[in-house]
Amino acid sequence: MARELSTARLAKKICISESSQCYHFEFALDQLDSFPFASGQFISAVATDPAGKQQTRAYSIASAARGNRFDLCVNRVEGGFFSNHLADLTELEPGGTIQIHGPHGHFVLKEPVTDSILIATGTGIAPMRGYLQWLFPEGGPDRSHGRQIWLVYGTRYESDIYYQAEFEALRSRHANFHYLPTLSRAQESWTGLRGYVQEHVTRILAERAAQLGQPWPAPPLDPATPSAEMNFDIYAYICGLNEMVSAVRERLTSLGWHRKQIVFERYD
Ligand SMILES: Cc1cc2nc3c(=O)[nH]c(=O)nc-3n(C[C@H](O)[C@H](O)[C@H](O)COP(=O)(O)OP(=O)(O)OC[C@H]3O[C@@H](n4cnc5c(N)ncnc54)[C@H](O)[C@@H]3O)c2cc1C
Repeated sequence: MARELSTARLAKKICISESSQCYHFEFALDQLDSFPFASGQFISAVATDPAGKQQTRAYSIASAARGNRFDLCVNRVEGGFFSNHLADLTELEPGGTIQIHGPHGHFVLKEPVTDSILIATGTGIAPMRGYLQWLFPEGGPDRSHGRQIWLVYGTRYESDIYYQAEFEALRSRHANFHYLPTLSRAQESWTGLRGYVQEHVTRILAERAAQLGQPWPAPPLDPATPSAEMNFDIYAYICGLNEMVSAVRERLTSLGWHRKQIVFERYD
């Protein structure tokens, strides 16, 4: 059965990194009063390619639910159809619309909120931005309930740290939000973290275990433990390309983490 499509009008488009050709988009669903979704979900975008074939691609929503609007964060993929179709959209009529269906997906925060480590590379930042807008809404109730929230964001160069100013502002307002961008190909002048996300994840978890007086690495859970009795005090949420997601999952598993503590979304 064909899915019901909605028309999303491009309200705003900003190039947030020239070097990696990454764009921030704001869309409005004018025919709807509201577009409810859980932060971290994605929409499916549908368009016809130059050969006349209908193409569908998934895009994580880069915002928390707000009226009939939603944001995307998409980078051009060389030779790819859809990412370039989006990047070439213009706010001016005609042409500034896409067809979408959704929301879809299960890459959402566990509730009640626990300590959480959000790990992303590249446009994998999109659902994390949605989580953070939901956890720490501007002028709204703080839904983090004082839990520790780490955002470990990996990219190659400083110019590819998407939404940096937003996350720094959030860090200055919330002592329990820890923002850790790390560069794999930093210039000498960079004074922040370097290297791959998994190295920093290991360090954060070791420090947390020491602070809480927990054994390190964590002893693996008895495999016979029924799901209902699994009470984890921390979850990891990982989003990006498969290579990074697999590397982080392996690292966490080697540190005694249970697979149910690791929530992930792969883009490829
Ligand atoms: C659940 C889900 C959510 C997604 N959310 C986002 C998002 O928020 N932002 C976003 O930019 N992309 C996202 N993607 C990837 C997106 O769906 C497309 O695959 C991507 O835009 C490339 O589409 P294309 O038609 O331009 O290229 P295609 O011709 O479909 O793909 C070209 C190649 O690029 C690879 N690729 C896919 N994504 C990327 C990427 N980000 N960087 C480099 N190579 C890539 C693919 O594996 C493929 O081999 C998501 C994918 C999934 C499954």
